[in-house]
Amino acid sequence: MRKLYLLLLLLSSTATLFAQNKLPQSPNYTLHARFSSMISDIRKCMCQHYDHLFDSKTLASDSIFEKWRTHELVQDEEHPSKYLIIITLDGMRWQEVFTGASDSIWQQGITTTNTPAKDRESLMPFLWKTVAAQGQIYGNRIKGSRVNVTNKMHISYPGYNEIFTGHPDDRHIKLNFKIPNPNQNVLAHIGKNKNFLGRVASFASWDVFPSIFNQKRGGMYINAAFEKVPDAAFVGLNAQLKTVQRRWGSRVRPDSLTAAFALEYLEQRTPRVLHIGLGETDEYAHEKNYPAYLQAARSNDAVIARIWQFVQSSPVYRNKTTLFITTDHGRGNTSDTWHKHHGWAKGSDEIWFAVMGPETMPLGEMEGGAPCFQNQFARTFAGFLGLEYGAEEPVGEKIATLFGVGAKGITQR
Ligand SMILES: [Zn+2]
Repeated sequence: MRKLYLLLLLLSSTATLFAQNKLPQSPNYTLHARFSSMISDIRKCMCQHYDHLFDSKTLASDSIFEKWRTHELVQDEEHPSKYLIIITLDGMRWQEVFTGASDSIWQQGITTTNTPAKDRESLMPFLWKTVAAQGQIYGNRIKGSRVNVTNKMHISYPGYNEIFTGHPDDRHIKLNFKIPNPNQNVLAHIGKNKNFLGRVASFASWDVFPSIFNQKRGGMYINAAFEKVPDAAFVGLNAQLKTVQRRWGSRVRPDSLTAAFALEYLEQRTPRVLHIGLGETDEYAHEKNYPAYLQAARSNDAVIARIWQFVQSSPVYRNKTTLFITTDHGRGNTSDTWHKHHGWAKGSDEIWFAVMGPETMPLGEMEGGAPCFQNQFARTFAGFLGLEYGAEEPVGEKIATLFGVGAKGITQR
């Protein structure tokens, strides 16, 4: 018996190490995470019943085997949202999200006769017909709903830092250089919780994300730009990294490929938290290519639809997943400044977000209300999973309106 106990302890610590920091090598990874969770339960149970160690009936409680039998071994059963998918559209302006293509920008030196997606539902049909209809969308300033970043930089790394750490860091993060983020982030924090070990991941187009999440600190799996996923299931996608056109050099992977990797990971590994970082909207905007920027937004909308289609067709994820969509920064708010964003381009601090999930009441497009801030997202992410999050710096409060009283059990289509 004692030998068995030691063996379990050894297995358990190995499992913990194994689950941190890197892509698990085992094809049966989900099972592995469950096993490590079960082992930790058994350990706890054995400590509680140390006096009766030799009584085999107390070795593991019935409930553990009950959990083992269930499809998904999660311990926070009462919590309606068990999975979280965060999708970021880099530098996507609220103006196009809420009002569709701008006539005045469109008319600037565009020679093509193709008409753009004039209205918002043609531009982002899934966002409007499904997410806004079944969830909530914030940031239409025309209707008095305001969302702002609190960092002063109004560029990408400072924005993603604020999203995922819950506070701005204008002292250390001023530019987009690949400096390892000195701040703890909420995804790694969640990934270190025993129920989430090895089950938090980020797939991003932009090659700065491993620095933003400070990959070396562990807690989550990060795949960015042209990095392969070391797994047999990804052979085809890995090959595409070599053959795909590198429009932005090695800096940015095409969003369609990022999305394909993320979807494959979702199907193969069943992460509990997945971030998908899309980047083309920002790239085309900097190029002052308005039609391509709009097309990127429309493609991103299709990516979100595809991810959600998988979520709702999966017995694991269906009706247990919260989807959170947002952006890292706004852009200039005139037809002369729309393409750029920084501390001096007015409008660059104005952002938006949309949420749908089992805890979120279908209130649709928000009007008026208290302003929301980017520094509130991190704590909100943790809240969807029934977890707390804090940092040394003050972190923004959870966005209370997303957690509807009686929202439990809202049926999603
Ligand atoms: Zn940018």
